[in-house]
Amino acid sequence: MTQLIRPDERTVPEFAAGPAKQLLIDGQWVDAQSGETVASVDPTTGRPLPELARGAAADIGLAVAAARRAFEGAWGGFRPRDRARVLNCLADLIEARSEEFATIDAVDMGVPLNVARWMAATAVNTFRYAASMALDIHGDTVESSLPASMFTYTLKEPVGVVGAIIPWNGPLFAASWKLAPALAAGCTVVLKPAEQASLTPLLLGQLFQEAGFPPGVVNIVTGLGEAGAALVEHHDVDKIAFTGSTATGQRIIQASAGTVKRLTLELGGKSPHIVFADADLDAAAGSAAMGAFSLSGQICSAGTRLYVERGIYDEFTEKVAEIGRSLRLGDPLDATTDLGPLVSREQLDRVSFYLEDGAAQGAVARSGGARATDGALADGFFVPPTLFTGVTDDMRIVREEIFGPVLSALPFDDIDDVIKRANDTPYGLASGVWTRDVGRAHTVARGLRAGMVFVNNYSATDPALPFGGYKTSGYGRENGRESIEAYLETKAVYLQTA
Ligand code: NAD
Repeated sequence: MTQLIRPDERTVPEFAAGPAKQLLIDGQWVDAQSGETVASVDPTTGRPLPELARGAAADIGLAVAAARRAFEGAWGGFRPRDRARVLNCLADLIEARSEEFATIDAVDMGVPLNVARWMAATAVNTFRYAASMALDIHGDTVESSLPASMFTYTLKEPVGVVGAIIPWNGPLFAASWKLAPALAAGCTVVLKPAEQASLTPLLLGQLFQEAGFPPGVVNIVTGLGEAGAALVEHHDVDKIAFTGSTATGQRIIQASAGTVKRLTLELGGKSPHIVFADADLDAAAGSAAMGAFSLSGQICSAGTRLYVERGIYDEFTEKVAEIGRSLRLGDPLDATTDLGPLVSREQLDRVSFYLEDGAAQGAVARSGGARATDGALADGFFVPPTLFTGVTDDMRIVREEIFGPVLSALPFDDIDDVIKRANDTPYGLASGVWTRDVGRAHTVARGLRAGMVFVNNYSATDPALPFGGYKTSGYGRENGRESIEAYLETKAVYLQTA
């Protein structure tokens, strides 16, 4: 494990220091109506970061009104080519400052810089992909069975004002996954970032005007869950696009019933990762470890249930444990760091609870197992990669989403057994399978009830491929053609030509 660079030796971007941040409403940076702020902490050092304006219902009201004016005003006049142009321009502006974005995400949420750089590049690619989708919006002409004089066709129209609510684990790219397709479709947006990490969405907010978006097309209201709740309840918001926990997603479904809002929900996961004995075991071990431990396990699609064919179980779990023990915890800004801290003390407490619960139930920690407190790591919220063996399918650590670097390994006997057990979960976000047998890979891929299946890899993403879940992992898809469709209404037109 590396020692942390001492906090006073760290160089952080100017934007991640200094006075409290403001809200972006109608192209203006303003304080919350209440004047209140929310504290934010650097999870690596425990030191304060700039406070955030505590937006609430009054601010949401102003932001929604601005978004509605922009939707009915200047932005409504932007043709697809105009929208593609400003989206591409925004992508160029992010790219030009991508190191700054990456460094701020590293400081704000504790993601290692190399992963934060990938996140910034992903945001750029997402906006460029959306720009191309803006140029390809079309309804259908429909050959109906009505008299031939009736010309029938469909129109695609933007849903309207979108409330986008995102979590802290990848603020820039989570924002881009919602903003890019919404803007490509012609919607306007009120974005509510997570209170634990809002800095990169706010920095992004500085770029819209420069890219050529009219004021009010994108508004950003930081704050606590109350701001998100106000957005969900607002009568003039047409759609909510949410990423976060399943529990909050369920509250949003209930709260949106009154206004029958369109919803897309990207929620939690407890994804299975299956390794057959014929796989390339070294590659599979690396994938099993990093599929669960990357970003200290704070990834909704993390492969946290590892099913290993019984004959190789001992050998394979030792390989994974060895990788877990070798990963270096430390300052996300240090190039040699593999894993940074968890985002908050609350998250540390939650993960610690599961570590204790697993041990109490008889699970054996083959790596990690308790909070890391060596040297300066004690200042931050660090948990080492933990591999549990000796677990059973019904243990809480196997059934519930932990959102920390905790992996449970279970042996399996045959393909039917493992598909059944892998599907025995309320979640259905991602899944992975390792085998050299292509027929078996396809059988497993078809048998798993999950929105994504990774074969002989884990966690690849591309803006052109849909991302989203089955079951309580949510509904709707981000990325891919599906993402823009989620921000479009379909109108049927019956035109009597006689
Ligand atoms: P969370 O649900 O607590 O918060 C997410 C966002 O919702 C935050 O901005 C928060 O302020 C807001 N919020 C809280 N209460 C609200 C309410 N009543 N109404 C409206 N908005 C409200 O989730 P979190 O702890 O920030 O994130 C971790 C969770 O997110 C994990 O469960 C993880 O699996 C999930 N996640 C899912 C995906 C995915 O794509 N499926 C991606 C990242 C994270």
